Amino acid sequence: MDLKQYVTIVENWPKEGIKFKDITTLMDNGNAYRYATDQIVEYAKEKGIDLIVGPEARGFIIGCPVAYALGVGFAPVRKPGKLPRETIKKEYGLEYGKDALTIHKDAIKPGQRVLITDDLLATGGTIEATIKLVEELGGIVAGCAFLIELTYLDGRDKLEGYEVLTLMQY
Ligand code: IMP
Repeated sequence: MDLKQYVTIVENWPKEGIKFKDITTLMDNGNAYRYATDQIVEYAKEKGIDLIVGPEARGFIIGCPVAYALGVGFAPVRKPGKLPRETIKKEYGLEYGKDALTIHKDAIKPGQRVLITDDLLATGGTIEATIKLVEELGGIVAGCAFLIELTYLDGRDKLEGYEVLTLMQY
């Protein structure tokens, strides 16, 4: 299936000059959403995954159906102040300024094989911070899976040494 036909390119959003890849038109098509999910499920089976970890909010949309299909858990990575119990935190650089991501301290058991999921790999900052959170808790990052990779932003450079699956490249 050619998944790109279900992605809508939104010109000049959220800012002038950005061509935003809107995946909501892929998700609201049952066949396309299932097909994309199944590709990641097959990848996860090869990697022997114990747990899925995804950053808010679109990492949940990709990761949760994969976790359900595999019968493994899902641990959310969220912006500071959103998770109710003790967390660890990693800061990461944005185009302007900094942001941070957190995960519950007990979300991962040491040695668990983790698949990280998100909708899109751009500069790689989000996923790099997520990898650091997983590894600080003793998890093994067995793979990272995305619907979309913006190859011109070289996010893969930050993921050297990690297994990466992307279903569409722009
Ligand atoms: P990175 O940290 O630069 O790799 O940016 C990736 C994050 O930004 C992901 O969590 C995406 O959800 C979001 N993102 C960046 N560009 C787009 C886009 O064009 N469409 C959807 N999400 C995007």
